[in-house]
Amino acid sequence: MTQAKVCFIGAGNMTRSIVSGLIKHGYPAERVQATNPSQAKLDALHADFGVAVSNDNVKAAEQADVIVLSVKPQLMQQVCEQMQSLDLSNKLVITIAAGIPAARYSEYFNQDITLIRTMPNTPTQLGFGMTGMYANDNISDAHKAICQQLMQSGGKVVWVEREDELNQVIALAGSSPAYFFLFIESMIETGVRMGMDEGKARVLAEQAALGAAQMVIQNQDLSLAQLRNNVTSKGGTTAQAIATFEQGGLRGLVDKAMSNCVAKAEDMA
Ligand code: NAD
Repeated sequence: MTQAKVCFIGAGNMTRSIVSGLIKHGYPAERVQATNPSQAKLDALHADFGVAVSNDNVKAAEQADVIVLSVKPQLMQQVCEQMQSLDLSNKLVITIAAGIPAARYSEYFNQDITLIRTMPNTPTQLGFGMTGMYANDNISDAHKAICQQLMQSGGKVVWVEREDELNQVIALAGSSPAYFFLFIESMIETGVRMGMDEGKARVLAEQAALGAAQMVIQNQDLSLAQLRNNVTSKGGTTAQAIATFEQGGLRGLVDKAMSNCVAKAEDMA
């Protein structure tokens, strides 16, 4: 295992998720550092995972081989500018921030940098995350391997060929947990409207969602249509529900929602 010294700038939710996965996978805590202005967040991260913590971004970044930028996008420029005095030529910079194009980071740091853009999602906190990653042609395989190792600790990863594909990653994986939450929420609401106890409706819907996801994952040789047909007897109850979704234009609605998601991501860049 590569054991680069990693520094997370910003110790919020995503850093917690990634650090938790790293430590769980045996990454040495003494090779990990995180920074934050809030001492309470730093204390919690140190207590839970044993990693080093600091409120000095510049000093922490200077000591690291890999800098993971994990602050909100609106703070990114200020945070990078603060580090302009550092020589970043031998460091790998990984950003998890949404929206900011790779090229802009060199401007923020006022020097050429080796940067990989990643787009994780929130299930990373449970080890079921999905991260899309983009590296330009100048990034070495060794650097890509380090980034992959870090992000894989929270789940699966895919590399995309073009930077604009990260916007599609947002539509397919970054934002999509919320689509499934909405679907499950609607099912529970209907269950309750029909007279079911809310707790029971929730366990029924959530377990069905988990089971369906596992069936998709564990049957890679079967198409989604085949899986659907396997539970849809002609003239039966499932057929009735599926026909209602199809007639109501579910596929078109999904297409529209995801297209709007991508358009929003393009706007934010
Ligand atoms: P968060 O608000 O939980 O964490 C950001 C942390 O940065 C906070 O703890 C904040 O106190 C700290 N911070 C503020 N100013 C700082 C400074 N000058 N130096 C160091 N730390 C500073 O946010 P998050 O959800 O962890 O998101 C972090 C990044 O991850 C964002 O850029 C976001 O776009 C990206 N991201 C988030 C998600 C998600 O679902 N949460 C998914 C993909 C990408």
